Amino acid sequence: MAVSASKGAITHGLHMHLTAPISAATSFIVFSMDPFSSNPWLDGKVTIVTGGASGIGEAAVRLFASSGATVVIADIQDALGEAVAASAGSGCTYMRCDVTDESQVEATVAAVVAAHGHLDVMLSNAGVLLPTGSVMDMDLSELDRVMAVNFRGAAACVKHAARAMVAAGESRGGAIVCTASVASLQGGFGPASYTASKHALLGLVRAAAGELGRHGVRVNCVSPSGVATPMSCTLMGVGPEELEAMTVPHNVLRGKVLRAEDVAEAALFLASDQGAFISGHNLVVDGATTAVNPDVLHTIGL
Ligand code: NAD
Repeated sequence: MAVSASKGAITHGLHMHLTAPISAATSFIVFSMDPFSSNPWLDGKVTIVTGGASGIGEAAVRLFASSGATVVIADIQDALGEAVAASAGSGCTYMRCDVTDESQVEATVAAVVAAHGHLDVMLSNAGVLLPTGSVMDMDLSELDRVMAVNFRGAAACVKHAARAMVAAGESRGGAIVCTASVASLQGGFGPASYTASKHALLGLVRAAAGELGRHGVRVNCVSPSGVATPMSCTLMGVGPEELEAMTVPHNVLRGKVLRAEDVAEAALFLASDQGAFISGHNLVVDGATTAVNPDVLHTIGL
């Protein structure tokens, strides 16, 4: 997704520039508003996006790149990852990295730091959703596979990103954003294995935010409800349009369908200095679905 000037102004709010220094002679601050700025929220930031070859990760790659970032896609789909990197902008490259293998995560972070000097943002987004069935029939080896990517893989990303960011010093800091899910908060949004992996991820994020705050490193989650991506479409055996049509009746917020780009915008906010004092937060992107009980709302006539 390319961020056009007008879209940037609408979705990111008005951009303010300090145009005069504060001094005894000029004891006032002059702000100029530039509503047509392209809002380079990640200008000069070095970022890694795991799972950036597809779906929400791909949308984040394109948005981060158009927001001024140097983006490294870390994924296991080489052809797709290379293609996204080639079309996302000159600051975007692809590296093969299977997040279930800690040594690959460590090597990816090390390669990025060696090439660019530091790491500012880690979007740990790679995930899988396997049809593990009812909890009574759960295939525990499938549970292990889900946990290996969604939780253990994310833990490796948090660990090695944090090491690189802490080594760069408190003044540089850093931002780690993990793609969790509404399944990090409630049951019923997916199989038990997936729900457990996302609950665990939220716990990891909160614990890491507590530890890393003293180093100026922020750690947050973005938690979307259903988005039509290869993951969700494959699970349901339908195409994107059909999947979106299936989600609409369950939405509390009407007149809008959640898209990967909306989730990317939330991740951008948390990754950028616009979210400079936000850490340990789970930014739910679900149009109020987990905030209310729609059945009760309907029953009481609201
Ligand atoms: P997707 O399948 O389109 O993208 C997932 C990406 O992760 C793929 O590019 C895949 O190759 C990559 N990946 C998988 N295993 C990997 C591994 N071991 N190492 C590196 N990369 C790996 O799915 P998506 O919907 O865009 O999912 C992205 C994230 O969003 C996931 O964490 C998912 O749980 C979360 N999420 C998705 C939805 C939804 O409805 N689609 C809702 C909530 C949360």
